[in-house]
Amino acid sequence: MTTLTPPRAHTGSHAASDGRPTDAPTARQAHAAPPRGSAVPGRAGVAAGPGTAGAPRPGAAPGAAAITAALAQFDAAADHLELDEGLREILRSPQREFSVRFPVRLDDGQVKVFSGYRVQHNVARGPAKGGLRYHPSTDLDEVRALAMWMTWKCALVNVPFGGAKGGVTCDPRALSAREVEAVTRRFATELEPLIGPDSDIPAPDVGTNAQTMAWIMDTVSMHAGYSIPGVVTGKPVSLGGSNGRADATGQGVVYTVEDAMRRSGMRLEGATVAVQGFGNVGEAAARLFHEAGARVVAITDVDGGVRADRGLDVPALSRRMRETRSITGTPGTVPIDNPELFGLDVDVLVLAALEGQVTAANAGTVRARILAEGANGPTTPEADPILAASGVTVVPDILCNAGGVVVSYYEWVQNRDSLFWTPRIVNGRLREAMLAASDAVWARADADGIGSRRAAHAIAVERVAEAVQLRGLYP
Ligand code: NAD
Repeated sequence: MTTLTPPRAHTGSHAASDGRPTDAPTARQAHAAPPRGSAVPGRAGVAAGPGTAGAPRPGAAPGAAAITAALAQFDAAADHLELDEGLREILRSPQREFSVRFPVRLDDGQVKVFSGYRVQHNVARGPAKGGLRYHPSTDLDEVRALAMWMTWKCALVNVPFGGAKGGVTCDPRALSAREVEAVTRRFATELEPLIGPDSDIPAPDVGTNAQTMAWIMDTVSMHAGYSIPGVVTGKPVSLGGSNGRADATGQGVVYTVEDAMRRSGMRLEGATVAVQGFGNVGEAAARLFHEAGARVVAITDVDGGVRADRGLDVPALSRRMRETRSITGTPGTVPIDNPELFGLDVDVLVLAALEGQVTAANAGTVRARILAEGANGPTTPEADPILAASGVTVVPDILCNAGGVVVSYYEWVQNRDSLFWTPRIVNGRLREAMLAASDAVWARADADGIGSRRAAHAIAVERVAEAVQLRGLYP
């Protein structure tokens, strides 16, 4: 029978060779759930070699590495908290999983069947919340991992949501705008039994954006017969989106990095920054670091990268990306790839692409003082102790990239009350929320003698476990 005893904290930790605490995997993690899911096509469009997105084992499903990492991180936090077995069992698996296959007519007249997913990991603290990803390697395991991370992230920044994620296995870069709209409208229709302002609220993620959210909002509203703006967040401002949402994740990266730097006696102004990924998160983070007076010296994306040691003109790169969909070959820059980017001697390395980027194989090459996880799961559990031994401060994903869900929460609140907050109000509240969460993580790491990732997960798991326990078992 499941028992629900209160979680207790203890100070057990793993020590690096230099005696400092690390987030090294525990014995339990070594027995994390084996990879699940069927084989799907590999990571199209992603270059091979160290620093390659995900890079699952040959033959393994792409999401297998992500769910293995998410479970290892959860187990480490649960061990640290000496979490009750019943709670552990509840929190280790998703509460609800939805898989769908749906046909879409392509521009050439052919019909293609797409696979889509939505996973609600845990909704004890509120409606399910999480992005929708369009990527060739998206599969059920990847969505499971991302949904679990969302549960912890929402709890860490104290927004009243549970964790969810969804996605469609597709390459949006290979589809026309009309085809992407058709995929989105059909997927939204398939998701209708699940999504809604009180039940499950999608948002943008890799390969999706404000336009995708507008199509979902319109589809759901057309079926209902009236506008339901609160069914998604990350909408265009003209459709009830929030001021500040487009930049919120990148802004949160800057706030949490600035806080980590302050704690190490460093300053953002004049600091050197390298960024992997130049999409929703990476572009905003690079631009906002640049505006804050930092020197962004290198950026990579899926097609390559650019480097300029005297500092990149980030606003010009943003314009070039909008106009040509690429930053490679920008005049006044030299090319750079991911392995070179990871080895740069910079103050801050921002990972804002995909999961599984810094691994046991390349963690030893990282020379940045601060590793900022703008992406979800960009560092594998095996890389954590190596980074700790090198003295790299990690701002963990569930803290670093939580700015997006914080402002999504503000958007949801504004939609419920038909309010429009000014950018100043949104950013002020975002900063306060991010700094409070950052403070909690570093204080917990100090108090328990553990690394920042385990501290962040311990706080989050404790909060979700408490909610599950207070609600009790139904019936
Ligand atoms: P996006 O699709 O807008 O951008 C992804 C970027 O990564 C693109 O620039 C792409 O070219 C680049 N990329 C892909 N593979 C790469 C590789 N091998 N090397 C270098 N660059 C590569 O996606 P996004 O919304 O910015 O999401 C990025 C990460 O941030 C994901 O892990 C996502 O889950 C996470 N995240 C996003 C949000 C959000 O608000 N969008 C919020 C929290 C976390």
